[in-house]
Amino acid sequence: MLQSPVEFFRTLPKKVCPECGEHIQEQAESYLFECERCLANKEE
Ligand SMILES: [Zn+2]
Repeated sequence: MLQSPVEFFRTLPKKVCPECGEHIQEQAESYLFECERCLANKEE
């Protein structure tokens, strides 16, 4: 039986933002090194 995509992503280790230690919510097509909050701070 195939693993569902949701289960697959659940079992991946969580990334942590090096800036603030926040867990990064990973998206299929983006490989962010920092969380959205820190990225937004940098762009302003
Ligand atoms: Zn951060």
